[in-house]
Amino acid sequence: MKVSDCGYENQGFANRPLDLGATARLAVPHGPLKKDIETDVLVVGAGITGAMMADALAGTGLRVAVVDKRGPAKGSTTASTALVQYEIDTPLIKLARKIGKRDATRAWRRSRLAVDAIAARLGELGVPEVARRDNIYLAGDLLDAGELEREHDARRAAGFASRYLDRKALRKRFGIKRDAAIMGYGNLAIDPRKTTLALLQAAVANKVKIFAPATIVDLDAKRSGVTATAGNGRRIHCRHLVFATGYELPDRVPRDGHQIISTWAITTVAQPRRLWPEQCMIWEASDPYLYLRTTSDGRVICGGEDEEFSDEAERDALLPRKTRTLQRKLGRLFPGIDTTVAFAWTGSFGSTDTGLPIIDRIPGLPNCWVALGYGGNGTTYSRIAADIISGALTGRPDVDADLYQF
Ligand SMILES: Cc1cc2nc3c(=O)[nH]c(=O)nc-3n(C[C@H](O)[C@H](O)[C@H](O)COP(=O)(O)OP(=O)(O)OC[C@H]3O[C@@H](n4cnc5c(N)ncnc54)[C@H](O)[C@@H]3O)c2cc1C
Repeated sequence: MKVSDCGYENQGFANRPLDLGATARLAVPHGPLKKDIETDVLVVGAGITGAMMADALAGTGLRVAVVDKRGPAKGSTTASTALVQYEIDTPLIKLARKIGKRDATRAWRRSRLAVDAIAARLGELGVPEVARRDNIYLAGDLLDAGELEREHDARRAAGFASRYLDRKALRKRFGIKRDAAIMGYGNLAIDPRKTTLALLQAAVANKVKIFAPATIVDLDAKRSGVTATAGNGRRIHCRHLVFATGYELPDRVPRDGHQIISTWAITTVAQPRRLWPEQCMIWEASDPYLYLRTTSDGRVICGGEDEEFSDEAERDALLPRKTRTLQRKLGRLFPGIDTTVAFAWTGSFGSTDTGLPIIDRIPGLPNCWVALGYGGNGTTYSRIAADIISGALTGRPDVDADLYQF
């Protein structure tokens, strides 16, 4: 089996996002793959998913190796605007229509648990720049005020803390002129690069080995085990292989219901005095959607304008136009915000019809797993993938695994 390279060498974004600095302290020991090796689990990809996977598997008694063709935290993880939310892209009432109320509620609850588990682990590791943030979900063309009220009722019935704000309450509390909104509580804003490096560091301290740059170009998967061949001809023999390659799907992974989405984001100049009250994350129930959050140094990160295509040249060429659109929408929502752009970038992510990820064994490839379809809830889903796959490999099947199968 050939592993597709996608010709992707630009790290997934056109303009570099913020240089968040202080990464020297978070350097992750890694080196080239100089000889054939044997391990119990091979994780392909050292982005936030591979990092969570390695962290979950470290210390279980399994020997774990991670490979990446670029290096630790150099893929699409660095492009993430890093709103880590339990409110998944597909509203609860809409997901219930697609997969049934019971499973939709399970998926939402599982995301809630994942966000709390991420917060706990990052707190344990002392990862910097992790902030708890509440969320405002604004009425838009996907859910109007009436549907938003139904969504609020569904969330309450499922056990989530939720508050419905009508036009007047929304304007009074946040200065936003929209028909309605619902509030959710206890999400996270993180620094995706520092988080990934900290998790990989913790894994290395627990005997996980990281090899980079090393591109997996070929696979021989049998019931007895898997042999992965790297671009330099070196082989890795393992009992289990996990693809954590982000939107760069390996060949032979079924693509039904899976799309590649192009997305754009901007960061404004710092303006701590002009930010909205409570600095909640903001998400619009619209297609295309708009989302916002603030940073610790008082900037606004604003993203969205998603389109379903994967051509990188086309995606990158749209950056100036999408930047202007994001600025205009931001200015319309908050006329007092300075929309001057300090950084603008674009990237791609995988998405599925339901908005849920696919976390499963790859059909026809024994002992190989994949975590697919990350969308705007990628980080939350990375944690769920790490829990499900590490559980399966250590004899602890996960009660929610069926929600995320092919
Ligand atoms: C602009 C933008 C904004 C986003 N905002 C958010 C957000 O607010 N919240 C959120 O939760 N998510 C967000 N996402 C999604 C999030 O970035 C992704 O879900 C997440 O980064 C995926 O992480 P990953 O580790 O799976 O993939 P990646 O970070 O892409 O890592 C995959 C790694 O696999 C390596 N690799 C690929 N193929 C091979 C191979 N054959 N051999 C060896 N190595 C290989 C790559 O080099 C790469 O380092 C956003 C994405 C974009 C583009």
